[in-house]
Amino acid sequence: SEKDTVLEIIDLHAGYDDVQVLWGVNLKVKRHTLTTIIGANGAGKTTTLKAICGLLKNVTGKVVLNGEDISRIPTHERVDKGLVMVPEGRWLFPEMTVLENLRMGAYPKHARDKREETLEWVYTLFPRLKERANQKAGTLSGGEQQMVAIGRGLMSRPEVLILDEPSLGLAPNLVLDIFKIIQELKEEGLTVLLVEQNVHLGLAISDYAYVMEHGKIVMEGTGQELENDPKVKEAYLGI
Ligand code: ATP
Repeated sequence: SEKDTVLEIIDLHAGYDDVQVLWGVNLKVKRHTLTTIIGANGAGKTTTLKAICGLLKNVTGKVVLNGEDISRIPTHERVDKGLVMVPEGRWLFPEMTVLENLRMGAYPKHARDKREETLEWVYTLFPRLKERANQKAGTLSGGEQQMVAIGRGLMSRPEVLILDEPSLGLAPNLVLDIFKIIQELKEEGLTVLLVEQNVHLGLAISDYAYVMEHGKIVMEGTGQELENDPKVKEAYLGI
């Protein structure tokens, strides 16, 4: 039902300066689910996430969060309403410690009061970060930096956590660790929207998934339906 939909994207058109990238994207994210967008390089996945978060100019269409049209409000107000993105490439402050980076995430009003409590939660999810709390973020391994980036996103107490390619550049065993944690977050009540390069793994953990091509959604279904779809197998799973 509509009540189960936490985030709805309607007819999104967006791009950069004179290049249009999105040509009418529609998708729904149900509460307490993990939804994934897959697609080839350049299909427009990251652009979709940026448009959802209010990071692009000249976006048309609607972004509806809990029934409220948030398409015209700035990014930080979307964060206040619980919509939080962990970008690809991490964007940590390299000269600041792990702890300082994490604390920076707790800027929304509703997150500030719970900051130390949330920090303990993040340390439970990522014990490695507790061990390295006073190390400069710029000296961490790629996997550890990814953990800080997700942890910082969690510090703002999101309702919907948007992750752009969290597995990028990670060793295979670390990819599995990160995916386990993403599933755990869902079990703890978060709703997750994920863009993932690793189509097999992405679909395996998804409740629902969308396939994007040339700035449009061309296919959708449960993770399992798409994994078994002959077109997906041929185009994205190399089978
Ligand atoms: P990838 O998996 O390679 O990250 P993607 O599906 O996330 O791909 P986008 O990053 O959304 O794709 O890029 C879609 C298109 O928009 C590409 O053709 C890209 O070159 C273009 N694009 C992305 N960022 C910019 C930018 N800042 N300025 C101009 N064009 C851009």
